[in-house]
Amino acid sequence: MEVFYNSTRDNRVRISASKAILQGLSEDGGLFVPEQIPALDKSLAELAGMDYRQTAYEVMKLFLTDFTEEELKECIDKAYDDKFDTQEIAPLVSADGAYYLELFHGKTIAFKDMALSILPYLLTTSAKKNHIKNEIVILTATSGDTGKAALAGFADVEGTRIVVFYPKNGVSPIQEKQMVTQKGKNTMVVGIHGNFDDAQTGVKKLFNDQKLKKEMEEKGFQFSSANSINIGRLVPQICYYVYAYAKLLKNDEIKDGEMINVVVPTGNFGNILAAFYAKKMGLPIRKLICASNENKVLFDFFNSGCYDRNREFVLTSSPSMDILISSNLERLIYRICGNDSAKNKEFMAQLSGEGKYAISEEMKDELKDFYGNYASEAETAEEIKRLYDDCGYVIDTHTAVASAVYRKYVKETGDLTKTVIASTASPFKFTRSVMNAIDTKYDAMGDFELVDELAKLANVKVPNAIEEIRTAPIVHDRQCDVDKMQDTVREFLGMPKTL
Ligand SMILES: *Cc1c(COP(=O)(O)O)cnc(C)c1O
Repeated sequence: MEVFYNSTRDNRVRISASKAILQGLSEDGGLFVPEQIPALDKSLAELAGMDYRQTAYEVMKLFLTDFTEEELKECIDKAYDDKFDTQEIAPLVSADGAYYLELFHGKTIAFKDMALSILPYLLTTSAKKNHIKNEIVILTATSGDTGKAALAGFADVEGTRIVVFYPKNGVSPIQEKQMVTQKGKNTMVVGIHGNFDDAQTGVKKLFNDQKLKKEMEEKGFQFSSANSINIGRLVPQICYYVYAYAKLLKNDEIKDGEMINVVVPTGNFGNILAAFYAKKMGLPIRKLICASNENKVLFDFFNSGCYDRNREFVLTSSPSMDILISSNLERLIYRICGNDSAKNKEFMAQLSGEGKYAISEEMKDELKDFYGNYASEAETAEEIKRLYDDCGYVIDTHTAVASAVYRKYVKETGDLTKTVIASTASPFKFTRSVMNAIDTKYDAMGDFELVDELAKLANVKVPNAIEEIRTAPIVHDRQCDVDKMQDTVREFLGMPKTL
């Protein structure tokens, strides 16, 4: 059955998967959602016999229905190969009564690699299918993790170029080093004199500049987005939940059909929405546990039914979750108001106007699949230390937020259902926070000294992603003011500057 995609802000928009991937965002500002969520057409027992790539195919074929088998399999094979440091791609580690699904074995050691390894291939295939001859120019604003994962995914991919803007003084030293050492003739990395919001706003402006669009068209270029609202990022994220369940079944940790819970450290709501879609496909998931850090907008939303971004933005040790507008939540809101795009549009207008909206009681009832809670900075650090002391297992700060929330959930509910915790980053990416949580004596050490200490402590090899940047030469040293972002892009594309 063919699956079409609607805009959450205008039901009349109805396009194929490949067009939705190319476009990223609907012109009305809405997000693309599948008209219906397809059911898994392989049994759990069959899935238990599959490797990661086979599982990914079984899930993605149901959503990306205008891709041929050959096209999709080629994308999957190119994405999930030996750039991952384990054949399992997403291994499950059992520690302290839960299963940690390690989603950080890709090139940039954060879970964004799971989708951004395949997005470039989905995008170039979509371009081919729709007879687009233009070169695709990916524009990205990043607060750290997305930029590097997108660069690594698109570097040297034929028919694409990528420009990443990051706040010059707003990312961690390791994150910056990862980006400015990125190889690939088609890549450009620019530090802007401003914060992440400035970068994001500047990028949106470029996307909406009709004059620029026309000039680019004449030169054979068009923009696209690698942002987490692209359906081409959401669909690949569903696969690892199905894979995790199948792994548990294969390893006799659960019985066929047994319910599991899933815990996800959440920022933009993309990863946990993928778990929700997996549940709707028929995967036996009981609760979706949404874990926030001190920016606990979602916790408040699940409790009160009111989404309110009017609050202080807190900088935490889990920066990839420091977010007050969870873009992908719109897909859930659309669904729980009965796929009513007019109603959803109203909520989103309230959000951009007053910064808040409140859902109805009936809509609240639809949220019973979810449980929300949060972990403070102190609780996050304690969880890292506790897990290390008890099991010798070292987790990163984002995973620790999820882990701490899981312990709260069990205490509160007594629910002992087997549970998978999404482990979204390697502890090597947030070494200083992780090591300080274990012992404050580490604070005096340098960044790479800490890396070596962590390797000893956790008894694991330093990941390639870190080894590489120790000595890699800096190849991007460009900076620009916010109002010069367009000229920077023009220069990269060999186009004349604005007047
Ligand atoms: C992006 C990110 C998250 C948040 O994921 P969302 O899909 O935005 O909710 C959590 N942890 C890490 C390490 C991330 O990079």
